[in-house]
Amino acid sequence: MLLTITTTHQPATDLGFLLHKHPEKAQRFELSAGTAHVFYPRAGEAECTAALLVEIDPIALVRKRNGQPDGLTQYVNDRPYAAGSQLAVALRAVYSTAMTGRCQQRPELAESAIPLRIRVPALSASGGLDLTRRLFEPLGWQVSGTPAPLDPEFPDWGESRYLDLTLTGKLRLADALRQLYVLLPALDGGKHYWVSQDEADKLLRAGENWLAGHPERELITSRYLVHRKPYIGYALSRLAEIDGPNTAEVEDPLAEPRVTEAPEQPQPLAVQRQGSVLAALRAAGARRVLDLGCGGGALLRVLMAEPSFTEIVGLDVSTRALDAAERRLKLDRLPEHARDRIRLRQSALTYADPSLAGYDAAVLMEVIEHLEPERLPALEHAVFAVAHPRTVVVTTPNSEYNVRFDGLPSGTFRHHDHRFEWTRAQFRDWAAGVADRHGYQVRYLPVGVDDPEVGPPTQLAVFEVNA
Ligand code: SAH
Repeated sequence: MLLTITTTHQPATDLGFLLHKHPEKAQRFELSAGTAHVFYPRAGEAECTAALLVEIDPIALVRKRNGQPDGLTQYVNDRPYAAGSQLAVALRAVYSTAMTGRCQQRPELAESAIPLRIRVPALSASGGLDLTRRLFEPLGWQVSGTPAPLDPEFPDWGESRYLDLTLTGKLRLADALRQLYVLLPALDGGKHYWVSQDEADKLLRAGENWLAGHPERELITSRYLVHRKPYIGYALSRLAEIDGPNTAEVEDPLAEPRVTEAPEQPQPLAVQRQGSVLAALRAAGARRVLDLGCGGGALLRVLMAEPSFTEIVGLDVSTRALDAAERRLKLDRLPEHARDRIRLRQSALTYADPSLAGYDAAVLMEVIEHLEPERLPALEHAVFAVAHPRTVVVTTPNSEYNVRFDGLPSGTFRHHDHRFEWTRAQFRDWAAGVADRHGYQVRYLPVGVDDPEVGPPTQLAVFEVNA
């Protein structure tokens, strides 16, 4: 299968910088189901074309699936030739940096809309040219496509589902790649991989800036997620919120939501978590709030946007995290009255600090799992006995949910710095003990899709001081 990207922006060879692939080199990338090649059939000042050629190995595909052979169709099918979800996988593997829109050599060009022509000579399009238009035209593309006949020798048999597609438009290259990443599988309709929350999050990240406003967003979401209802519901409800202020924070649209994720880099699930924490704080009527283990300040920013919080303190042991928070919040540029509302402090949460007493609420968002279990009693003492706010909100991963993350080997944690991840029972056990020892009531809430079998991806507990 083949996809070519052409620009006439001059000098056209700058396309090589945007794609992070040198026009004079032919490169090869191994994929789990085959090999991708990138090369430039044309690289002139006036026009430059980058080609992505993907060779799928149908045998490897079958082996990967580990299934029982079900006859010849398993091996003889359109997968090696027709551009669909496998091409999207290749796009992501080969052009992941380009998709983020980062480009050190040509930062302004990466931000600019440039003339683009994208050709996919054999696109698997269930829904045909009509649906292809409905998906691409609202994004500013001109769509032209020729359906391939089922068999050129028998014109009466009519048309196949395959199109020779050309898209022409003036767009940011990163946007174009992200649109293809989502729309190729949506058109294909036969996504080859297991759909999980992870896939829903990938969709949201790749769809950032364009999917929420797309007139066909429900159809795209539903097809991309292969009609899996809980994930569609999750994605659509996130899309409904996504025009809000948080979307600009998603820095790397395609970063894996696990293991390599810096906790400061909010992902859609992280954004949802912030929303749940905020709701709990509002419900408690909190005004003076501690964000304990505030990291890069994602929650602080949300809290800053709510005038009802009159005093906000972010505390973290890591100076690096606090520097990041300071930059994110642009503290140096705040007017004085706003500056007075927020303070950042470096301290360890295992340190009993009487100056933390007297606050309405404290948040420990995705923090406890970063401490060695034997340090938890010290944290418990510092937070629940010494600081003793009226309300404490704690979130932590639900380890039962990990089986739903594609590619997270069983027994591994979501983040390399996690010291433990608890099941729902383990978390409740700890929380009930804490509440009991320090005079709190505790209730539990799910964050993210509450999977009937394994529960939600994040678990949240709200502690309230006994009346
Ligand atoms: N609450 C933030 C960050 C979570 S990552 C968010 O949800 O985005 C966990 C944070 O806890 C890190 O920033 C880490 O530096 C901090 N942390 C870990 N152990 C700590 C300790 N003992 N005292 C204070 N902060 C700690």
